[in-house]
Parts: sequence; C-alpha cells; structure tokens
Amino acid sequence: MKFVRSLFMKERLLQYLACPMCGGDIFLAAVGASETMRGWTEVLAGELACRTCARKFPVRRGVPRFVAEETLTPEKAATAANFGWQWQHFTQRDELYAAQLRGWLAPVEPEFFRDKVVLEGGCGKGRHTQLAVEWGARDVVGIDASDAVETAFAATRELERAHIVQADIYHLPLKRAFDYAFSVGVLHHLPDPRAGFLALAAKVKPGGHLSAWVYGAENNGWIVRFVSPLRERITSRLNQRALLHLSKLPAALVYAATKLVYAPINRSAFGRRAIAPHLFYNDYLSAIAPFGWREQHTIVFDHLVAPVAYYIPRAEFAAWWQEIGAEGVVIGWHNRNSWCGFGRIRAATSDE
Ligand SMILES: [Zn+2]
Repeated sequence: MKFVRSLFMKERLLQYLACPMCGGDIFLAAVGASETMRGWTEVLAGELACRTCARKFPVRRGVPRFVAEETLTPEKAATAANFGWQWQHFTQRDELYAAQLRGWLAPVEPEFFRDKVVLEGGCGKGRHTQLAVEWGARDVVGIDASDAVETAFAATRELERAHIVQADIYHLPLKRAFDYAFSVGVLHHLPDPRAGFLALAAKVKPGGHLSAWVYGAENNGWIVRFVSPLRERITSRLNQRALLHLSKLPAALVYAATKLVYAPINRSAFGRRAIAPHLFYNDYLSAIAPFGWREQHTIVFDHLVAPVAYYIPRAEFAAWWQEIGAEGVVIGWHNRNSWCGFGRIRAATSDE
C-alpha cells in the first residue's frame, strides 16, 4: 500500500507532462529503486516514456530528467552549472523569502495561488515551489535545467503537491495545463530571455495568468558598465569556491553600507525625506538591508557568478507581453531597478 501511495504522487505529475520532442503523452514505463522515507515509500528511479514517439526519459534520485547534457548550449550549461553549485551551497531558509517573493509577484498575493495548477520557470533550489504549495496551490511543477533540482527535490520531497522536473525552458516537457506560471530572476540569465518568456506563456491555459520578474536596464547603467564586464570576463569563469570567498569582500562592503547607512537613514522620517533620495541605489539597497549576512553574500555572489545577464528596458519587456496578447497587463518597477510583469493569457478563441 505504501508503494501505491508513492505511485499516486507520480501520477499527479504525469497528468501535466508531455513529450518535449513530439508533445505526446508521458507514462511511467518502469520503476527501479524505491526508498522508504519516514514510513512511506517513494519511487526514486525509473523510466518515463512517450506514448507517441517512444522516447525515454529517466527518473533519477526522484527527479524526471528531460535534459540531456549535450542539448544544452555551452552558455546555458555554464549558467546551470554555476547556479546549480550556488543553490546546493546556499541552502538556508530565510523568513524573508516569502516577503521577497510577494514583492516580485506583485500585484499577486498568496491567496491567488489557492487551488491553482502552477508552473515555476526556473525553480533553483525550490524555495518558491515550496512557498507556492504553502500558499495553497493544487499542484506546483518547478522546472530547472541545473543540478539545483537535487536540492529542490530534497527541499520539497515531503510536499505531495510539489513536483520538481529537470528540463530546458525552451523545450518544456509539459502540457498547456497551467492556471498560472511565474518566473522570478531567471529569464534575464537565459541566452534568449524573450524566447524563455514565450515558452512559459505557451504552457498557460487560455484565461490563465503569468508573472515574470526581470532585471531592468533603467537605473542599472552602472552595473552594465562596471559589474557586467568584470562578471563576463573574470568572475563567472572563476572556480566557484574561490569566487565564494572572493565575493565576501564586496559583500562586506554592501553589508556594512546597508546596515550602517541605508537602514538607519531609511528608518527615520527625516532621513527618508531629505537624505535617502540622494543615496546611491537607495531603493534596492534599503530593500535588502533587513537581510542577514548569508543572504546578502548570496545576492552579491549571484551578481558575479552568472555567465549571462541581460538588463531589459521597460519597452522591450512590455513588447513581450504584447506579443503573447496578454490582457490587463500590469508592469511594476521593483526597487526602481527591475520589472515585475503580470497579465492574463487571452481566453480561448473559436479555433482553440
Ligand atoms: Zn514523443
């Protein structure tokens, strides 16, 4: 009976899967290893197969794998490898994650997730997948191309409604079955951010909703001019462990500035009115000021590790939403340095 329960969990995920090559239905063709976890058994290894083209996809360590290493471009593989390492390294949970995610998804509130079938494009170590389940989603499928899926699986394996899938965002192994898709902090790290956005939108049911948060070009000229060349030429090529240590120096500067300057000034009414508007990058630095050392170090590391980062102008971001024909689009300027978009996928037309 324990075995049946574990298969039931897999079956929940199967209804959303589709062959990334031909769109055919996916079924569980073979079950290999299973493991007893806290009194119940979970299938950890097996094989999925496409009913139409018969292609096979492995399930390893509890995660369906649709990424063949050789199909990733070198750029994308490097991004996945770098972030994967980071997400396996930084596994702390921060109580500020929920508030942070709400900021990125604005105007979406946690209640919006209730009973929805949700797709997260780029789930990293799974912290948002976890929150989406806590916020009442019926099912959440978190996809990521990187090895971070190992951490994401570990973080969510006891949540029956969370499903982690290793997949390439451009070739999603999913049906158009989602009430809501969101992607935070991921699209701008893709070689083609717009194509990633379109791929996600294509999995949302007519009448469903989409959220995306991307780095903005506006106000980030200094990053593009000074940080990006350093990141592209040096830091993203460094050994991860070396960069982790090296990034402590800029992180310490950011930490000191936010704790000793930005936080106190923004706490007082006078400071907020008279000084804050003149501070460098105040909206962003005051927003991260409440974070602890590890989280701030993660943020700085994040800015230095990615081989690819695009800073997207508002007009370009708005054009993406136009391209998918979204309705009621809201684009917010988050911390005056990034764009949060939310919109509704047009309801079914007669030919759908
Ligand atoms: Zn197929």
